[in-house]
Amino acid sequence: MNATLSPIGAPGAATGAAPTAFIRKGAGDKPVLVYENVRKTYGDFVALNGVSLQVNKGEVMCLIGPSGSGKSTLLRCTNALETLNGGQVYLDGVPLPTRESEVRRVRQRMGMVFQSFELFPHKSALDNVAMGPITVLGMKEDEARTRARALLDKVGLSSKADNFPANLSGGQQQRVAIARALAMGPDVMLFDEPTSALDPETVGEVLNVMKKLAQEGMTMIVVTHEMSFARRVANWVVVFENGAIMEEGPPEQIFDHPTVARTRDFLSHLGWDG
Ligand code: ADP
Ligand code: MG
Repeated sequence: MNATLSPIGAPGAATGAAPTAFIRKGAGDKPVLVYENVRKTYGDFVALNGVSLQVNKGEVMCLIGPSGSGKSTLLRCTNALETLNGGQVYLDGVPLPTRESEVRRVRQRMGMVFQSFELFPHKSALDNVAMGPITVLGMKEDEARTRARALLDKVGLSSKADNFPANLSGGQQQRVAIARALAMGPDVMLFDEPTSALDPETVGEVLNVMKKLAQEGMTMIVVTHEMSFARRVANWVVVFENGAIMEEGPPEQIFDHPTVARTRDFLSHLGWDG
């Protein structure tokens, strides 16, 4: 076995020709994000209780777990929307900054997609996508619009460029929100329950866009209750409970052979039967 591809966080030891040897995607590269004993409290309440984790380049990491377990808090700590009470988050090996000017630069490298799409209601789909590059990156308007058109095409919405958010379905609005995040050229995409507010019939179109992004090699952290997406698209699944990691591993482990009984309980509450 190639020593530079030693499994990081792999389940079981990769000994000899063991058929169960698992090499985590991107394990040969420097991780994009490393969380070291991250702690976040709100008053007496401990929202993250010493979380250590890494995200490799090109990996899709799904965060699952009960409501209130700290998943959104971890995403907010990732793009420095929260200050930590302990531990450290490293982006490309560098601790996240605390100075506001530096924080803004770091945040530009992470595209964030929320449950509520948060598009600008008085702007067209095209302008929603073109706006960030114009105002934040200083891109020329026609260049930004050309790029925005290409991104709307990528998310399957080239025919809706002139629509305002009110004239788009939830799934279409969320796809605009994804295009808007991509317009900033992020290194990492963070998704916080991107399909939870959608009508069931539009969930699939958003998941398909996310799957395409994953196939193109985008590094993604996805908080989701869509277990079949996590099962099929994630390279690594992390199960949260009470602000801590209950179990992590490749989807085959988490969904088919969880090593922690509580993982099985959580999945069966969601109706997951493998
Ligand atoms: P999840 O995304 O897994 O549902 P969250 O990360 O949103 O969970 O929240 C984790 C816990 O932290 C919850 O109990 C929540 O009530 C608490 N929490 C989150 N944000 C705040 C805040 N700003 N002030 C106080 N408590 C908070
Ligand atoms: Mg949440």
